[in-house]
Amino acid sequence: MTTFLGMPATAPRGVGHLRGDEPFPRAAHTALADGQLRRNLRHATTTIRAKSGRVIAELPDWQELRSAGSAIKADVLSRLPELLERLEARVTERGGVVHWAADANEANAIVTELVRRTGAERVIKVKSMATQEIALNEALEAAGIQPVETDLAELIVQLGQDRPSHILVPAIHRNRSEIRDIFLRAMPGVDPGLTDDPPALAAAARRYLRETFLSTRVAISGANFGIAETGTLAVVESEGNGRMCLTLPETLITVMGIEKVVPAWTDLEVFLQLLPRASTGERMNPYTTMWTGVTPGDGPQNFHLVLLDNGRSAVLADRVGRQALHCIRCSACLNVCPVYERTGGHAYGSVYPGPIGAVLSPQLTGVEDNASLPFASSLCGACFDACPVKIDIPSILVHLRNQAPHPPAEKAVMRAAAYAMSRPRLYARAQRAAKLARIAGRRGRALPPPLSGWTAARDLPEVPRQTFRDWWAAR
Ligand code: SF4
Repeated sequence: MTTFLGMPATAPRGVGHLRGDEPFPRAAHTALADGQLRRNLRHATTTIRAKSGRVIAELPDWQELRSAGSAIKADVLSRLPELLERLEARVTERGGVVHWAADANEANAIVTELVRRTGAERVIKVKSMATQEIALNEALEAAGIQPVETDLAELIVQLGQDRPSHILVPAIHRNRSEIRDIFLRAMPGVDPGLTDDPPALAAAARRYLRETFLSTRVAISGANFGIAETGTLAVVESEGNGRMCLTLPETLITVMGIEKVVPAWTDLEVFLQLLPRASTGERMNPYTTMWTGVTPGDGPQNFHLVLLDNGRSAVLADRVGRQALHCIRCSACLNVCPVYERTGGHAYGSVYPGPIGAVLSPQLTGVEDNASLPFASSLCGACFDACPVKIDIPSILVHLRNQAPHPPAEKAVMRAAAYAMSRPRLYARAQRAAKLARIAGRRGRALPPPLSGWTAARDLPEVPRQTFRDWWAAR
């Protein structure tokens, strides 16, 4: 048993996919040069936005549902330890085994050992952000175990040795001819005459996956919700691949972020209305699979639940930032974000892209490791309006910007401004000096180096002819 003193730990370095190789502005610059990527993104986000908007408009109590979702999540975070212990007790009573993983290294070690004990050399996987976050596939491969992603888009990403670029549509950056090329290159047993017709591509994936489902004894999933009251886990998905993974194998291992616990069964009434409408634009989720421990003779006979922290306790410790843990991973904020629509997900470096990634990743890793992400936003507020659980992403962005390390020149200017602004006479003299500079003709729209970076993308405001103080004095 380990005793932690002080602040909870952030996600460790050197494991997982929460940190990019380069800062957001540089990665975004590369992405912006890819015209095909931008066309794919515009088409996909516009389509999902329109579909989602239509079904949300059908619900007269959408705003009340959002408030209810937000309130349930706030309640969960206020008594997280108690709810997690209740979940553990209920799962254990029903024949499951609960494991606690402080970070990605521990979670990967636990899952790898569990798979090893079954003797299996291959596992099937349901799409899961938590397992991508901790780079579980890489850990399994290093241990000689082959993970097979069964969600179609995740399969495309895996076969293409690529990275997901959207929470819900991980292969949003690929078009159909690229997908056909990936299948021809990497899918075992694929028909060499495969066309890029979407039904033909889906049929090829289905054939390959059916064989894999029927011949694999261990499955790994994430969880959308874990119900403390009953010990029930829930996975929602659209293709039925999740249902196959969660019911066919002998052993099921679920990796769940600790913030996914909800108090009661009836809470799903709220989230199962919010999630499909905000994410895929559907009234109801096509496949909602729920299970409670082990049922003799029905479904997996060995069930393990791995509860993952990996920086979440550190997020919880921040009163403003903890709202990010309300997220139900619907991806609505990505689909409305003008920055995401132009750069795509890879530029964010983390498995969590878009507005939620810009507030969640820096908190999980510590702001210094993802310092550019809180600035990857125009602060337009569209993400806040779209979020089904009312996460105030713009406020968290501003909060994190204050914690990010700032360049020395910016810090010096801010210190000088604070000094002048807290001394009325000095401030008045500075205003007069600015006015004189304006009269003397120095009305450039850019600042000189090292401050020129600030004006590279914005105009320097004109110094007004009359300051407020002058105006006031004249009266
Ligand atoms: S922050 Fe809100 S809108 Fe964005 S993915 Fe999470 S729940 Fe959805």
